[in-house]
Amino acid sequence: MHILLMGPPGAGKGTQAVKLVEAFNIPHISTGDMFRAAVKEGTPLGKQAKEYMDAGQLVPDSVTIGIVKERLTKPDCERGFILDGFPRTLDQADALDRTLCELGIRLDRVINISVPAEELVRRMTGRRICRSCGATYHIHFNPPAQAGICDKCGGELYQRADDQEQTVTKRLAVYSAQTQPLIEYYQDKGLYTEIDGQQDIDKVFADIVASLRGEQV
Ligand SMILES: [Zn+2]
Repeated sequence: MHILLMGPPGAGKGTQAVKLVEAFNIPHISTGDMFRAAVKEGTPLGKQAKEYMDAGQLVPDSVTIGIVKERLTKPDCERGFILDGFPRTLDQADALDRTLCELGIRLDRVINISVPAEELVRRMTGRRICRSCGATYHIHFNPPAQAGICDKCGGELYQRADDQEQTVTKRLAVYSAQTQPLIEYYQDKGLYTEIDGQQDIDKVFADIVASLRGEQV
């Protein structure tokens, strides 16, 4: 099963990836992990990528796609993979297409876990952290007994700058603008399925599995 997994931050993509790994016994390949592994293994492409990253520059597509190709030809990908976080641009999508073609691999489905922006903002801005002990809470999903105060040590809870509404909204807008062309690209290829990420975790997973089996969801 060759799956491309998409979804905005906060949509629960990581949770679903774990469930897919268990169900299909295929690796979850996230771009970040893949880069770290290539750099750590010191492959020629890993070394090139590291030079760009050390210089604070974007790793060019030619290097990135090479690393993706190296990763997809590893033995654990024989039965398939869940590719997550790549491609990010149409150029990368084209390059991935060519690479998969060379490897004789056909993408089975592109799954996008979709959640309305308001809900993502609610999820992503709710996190609070204790200044004293670092314990984390969520004002909706895991609230402290007393608002603003740590259950464990009585410390003051605060919201990281990254979790503030303005930052989150901006991040989501960037993600959405970046992703829209990819959605259209995979729609045109008849590979795209949007999954309602506002359902409970098991229902989201059931819908993903149904869509991988070619059922309408
Ligand atoms: Zn605390």
